[in-house]
Amino acid sequence: MEDCIFCKIADGKIPAAKVYEDNNIISFLDIMPANKGHCLVVPKKHYETLLDISDDDLKNLIITTKKIAKALSLSIGNGSFNLVMNNGKVAGQLVDHAHIHIIPRFKGDRLRLKWSHKKYVNKQMKEIQEKIKKFV
Ligand code: AMP
Ligand code: ZN
Repeated sequence: MEDCIFCKIADGKIPAAKVYEDNNIISFLDIMPANKGHCLVVPKKHYETLLDISDDDLKNLIITTKKIAKALSLSIGNGSFNLVMNNGKVAGQLVDHAHIHIIPRFKGDRLRLKWSHKKYVNKQMKEIQEKIKKFV
């Protein structure tokens, strides 16, 4: 993917503040962090969303995410962090190369990742449950 910024970072064609790299995964600081230390964990191969990632790379991705979250917690953090993965434009995905955000949390950081709550009415919950189950 010639125009993909994360492919370019994975190929070493443009710089990034890398914190980890192996054959399959790269992790670097987000250039516009939600909090200081905000890291991205990225499969080197170009996949668009979670649904496209091979099972092997997905295992590598989540294991590496744990490794980086632990390093963050031991270095600048305190064991509190949010994992965020935006999949698809409507969900706010800006870079079309699948990635996991690790956002360290600090007391009083005033970061808002909480959502307002909606309600199911009548049999809606059951209907939605049944619809989803058919595809699992
Ligand atoms: P998302 O909305 O999940 O696609 O988030 C993409 C993230 O990539 C944003 O938080 C950006 O700040 C970050 N980002 C974009 N370009 C770069 C870059 N060159 N180096 C580091 N982070 C980047
Ligand atoms: Zn890419």
